[in-house]
Amino acid sequence: MFEGIWVLVFLLLFFFFLFKRRKPIKEASSVFQDVAVDRRSDTSLESRSTPSKRSSYPRRYLDVPFAEKEAAKACGAKWDAGKKLWYAPAWAASDDLKPWPSIDEKIDIIANKAQIATTDERCYRCGKITPVSAVYLPNGWEVRDYDYDDWSRIGVGGFLQFSTYLSPTVSKALKASPAKIDFSFSKTAGHSYWMNLCAHCGAKQGDFYLFETGGPFFDAFCAKSQSYTISEPIGPVHAAAGIVSYG
Ligand SMILES: [Zn+2]
Repeated sequence: MFEGIWVLVFLLLFFFFLFKRRKPIKEASSVFQDVAVDRRSDTSLESRSTPSKRSSYPRRYLDVPFAEKEAAKACGAKWDAGKKLWYAPAWAASDDLKPWPSIDEKIDIIANKAQIATTDERCYRCGKITPVSAVYLPNGWEVRDYDYDDWSRIGVGGFLQFSTYLSPTVSKALKASPAKIDFSFSKTAGHSYWMNLCAHCGAKQGDFYLFETGGPFFDAFCAKSQSYTISEPIGPVHAAAGIVSYG
């Protein structure tokens, strides 16, 4: 009989301690969950801070002719004073800024205006006379100084050479010139650039040839023997060019 009571007491104590032990474990696990919740709110804070990081996302720069700058501004375009370019802010409705095409960010030459200079040259392959054109920048054009991420203004006119990128306004004007122009691959340069082709046989009249000593675009208007047809000014100019010959 006594043994039965002791067994009962033992069982009661056993369940009592079991219950007591369980509770803290449960509490502990709920605390752990709270920590987990806190961590989640931390990450949500992080993800909330991500959009501010996105504000440095690459800007889409626009080819805005000088005469259209007020119109572009009214449509939401913003001015990047460092790069001297208009850009479409991330929040701008893409349709609003549709009239102005995107321009390449690798530009290293900018100018308010350019003129297309055209002259005649004898094709090295077929021997016939063919018109050739180049983009002439009157003095005041600027070249990017990559060391200082700044721009240097040049006080003399120059010709663009090996242009891997021309803002649409300029490439359109170049293509409209009497010369046959194409964005074409050069084995000598190892890359494509805006190039003159022979109007008769299509042979590439490479910039190495056209701009070398004695070439038609050698020294930007200093060659008195060379006569050019000069187009009306166009602009602004944004270009990625290998070299500008000037002097
Ligand atoms: Zn030819």
